[in-house]
Amino acid sequence: MAKPEWTLLIHGGAGVMRRAEMTPEMDAAYRAGLNDALEAGSQVLASGGLAVDAVEAAVRVLEDNPNFNAGRGAVLTREGVAELDASIMDGRDRKAGAVAQVRTVKNPIRAARMVMDTTGRVMFAGKDVDAMAAKAGLEIVPPEYFVTQRRQDALKRAMAGTWEPMDRHGTVGAVAMDKAGNLAAATSTGGMNAKPPGRVGDSPIIGAGTYAENASCAVSATGDGEYFIRASVARMICARVAMQGMSAEQAAKATLDEVAALGGSGGVIVVGHDGSVALSMNTEAMFRGRADASGVREVGIYADE
Ligand code: ASP
Repeated sequence: MAKPEWTLLIHGGAGVMRRAEMTPEMDAAYRAGLNDALEAGSQVLASGGLAVDAVEAAVRVLEDNPNFNAGRGAVLTREGVAELDASIMDGRDRKAGAVAQVRTVKNPIRAARMVMDTTGRVMFAGKDVDAMAAKAGLEIVPPEYFVTQRRQDALKRAMAGTWEPMDRHGTVGAVAMDKAGNLAAATSTGGMNAKPPGRVGDSPIIGAGTYAENASCAVSATGDGEYFIRASVARMICARVAMQGMSAEQAAKATLDEVAALGGSGGVIVVGHDGSVALSMNTEAMFRGRADASGVREVGIYADE
């Protein structure tokens, strides 16, 4: 297959989403949200912009959409607060930025980008991120901005031990290849519903939830974060592409098999240096979407579509 001029993949979390439990309105709202994110990222790529700007643009749209577990509408800690994690990586030079436990930055992916672009460091956590972001002029919101009724209800159910399948987690992410062949990845999440305060998952960990390197691939993951950290998922997929010559699809499958063997579940989106793509999951569903320069524009939810 000819390499498209540019490619964008996004996800909005993997897990158990059953058709029977999804109302037509929710189904349509999720698909519209995924399309909005594809549109934002595609505009950057179609106009010759950088992959790193495209993944940031796509993730910002998903952070602003309260249906997804990132930014507004994120899941809550046991104490009812949103603690947000995000990371971004540029495949051109493997520069990366990550933030954890953000509480007041409207778009945590912007804070991750700020870390990458301005600090010479890779990762910051806790209240210092909020302070740095405010100083840098990023939009700051009160902690209540992130809290929605739906997530409060989900937290109540979790505390009462009456989980519903869709209550558990989620995450949003994007990977892209731009017209110049550069790769980038970005991931943003509220983490796991009812997580203990201070818990950090794979999403802001470079090499676990996010990785990008022009010579191999770009990956954004979603799933049981602890397992994704232990299996170094994002970096492992890129290593398999680089060292074993696997396609994005093969490398994603082999690595998700490792996660499953440890007892974890989830999904990944991958774009390889050759333009090959993978949207892989070992769950019943993953909110996902794909667009490229040849006119492909598709979104999906269930594993069998
Ligand atoms: N990976 C995220 C975390 O563990 C959650 C998810 O993607 O569902 O924080």
